[in-house]
Amino acid sequence: MAPESAKKPLPAVDYLKIPDSGDPYLEGQKCQKCGAVFLGQRGVCSKCGTRGQFEAVRLSDRGKLYVYSIVHRSFPGIQTPYVSAVVDLEGGGTVKGNLIGVDPDPEKVKMGMPVRVVYKDALGRKDKEGNAYLSYFFEPA
Ligand SMILES: [Zn+2]
Repeated sequence: MAPESAKKPLPAVDYLKIPDSGDPYLEGQKCQKCGAVFLGQRGVCSKCGTRGQFEAVRLSDRGKLYVYSIVHRSFPGIQTPYVSAVVDLEGGGTVKGNLIGVDPDPEKVKMGMPVRVVYKDALGRKDKEGNAYLSYFFEPA
């Protein structure tokens, strides 16, 4: 086993891309007919109904908080409270993730606030071979 192979983290979700060189990014699928952008693979555009006309696009690392929820209950080992957020990215794509770098307090978290996407280790979780996962989070911009 080459030790180098264990150094590169695995993406926590399939739409998080980790290029061999350069920064990780989120990938969307853009409808060639109407320009709507979605996360993950899909066969039919849910905006215009066009079938099989998607192109992979690199999504922006900037966006605005669309909606959020402060989570007080979770699985054992998951620290609460935390902010679960839905973010509209610049140029298209709506992404769910956790908002970090801000107190989980409704006084501090504002709808429409600008955020950026950051890439970090997925809370120390590892697979059976000990490979780390890379995940994405939102931070106030
Ligand atoms: Zn479309």
